[in-house]
Amino acid sequence: MSDYSFMKAGSGDEIQLSEKQIEEMQSLILLFAENTFKNAAEYVKHAKRNIIQLRDIHNCMKVEAMVFCQKDHTLQEAKKLLQEIKNEKTDEDDDDEEDDENDEEDDDENDEEEDDDENDEEDDENDEEEDEEEYTVSQCSCPLCGIIRDLDQYWDAWKPETPLEISLKKNIDKFNF
Ligand SMILES: [Zn+2]
Repeated sequence: MSDYSFMKAGSGDEIQLSEKQIEEMQSLILLFAENTFKNAAEYVKHAKRNIIQLRDIHNCMKVEAMVFCQKDHTLQEAKKLLQEIKNEKTDEDDDDEEDDENDEEDDDENDEEEDDDENDEEDDENDEEEDEEEYTVSQCSCPLCGIIRDLDQYWDAWKPETPLEISLKKNIDKFNF
């Protein structure tokens, strides 16, 4: 017997993915994260708060998981995002010359940063206030705020079906706030 592949398999439920499938998976994860953070930022604004809290992220992960799995075009969107990222990378490689031209501008930006140092003391005071910001539920009537107000209900009612959905729900439930 010369086939030792059974030794690598461990529990036997490992899946071999092609490079293309891995790329698709990566772009899906990126899209999931992007949507989650966009919604969290939006929600915090609607709740009239200044800082995104872990609870906001957790809530928006739940929202995104439920929405994500209903979108037929999610994979298409993810592929588009991946392509955009690839294009950006290529642009960066080609941009060396342009970067030099912008050096002067960059310096100006740095100057501004230095100016900011003078305000550090004031910033620290603000940080303290923001750390203590209390979680508030947004009372606004937009769909996102509506879902988050009744999120527990939606989340309990959501019965994941595909392996991806099941794994998403299980992993999001592991977070505890
Ligand atoms: Zn809202």
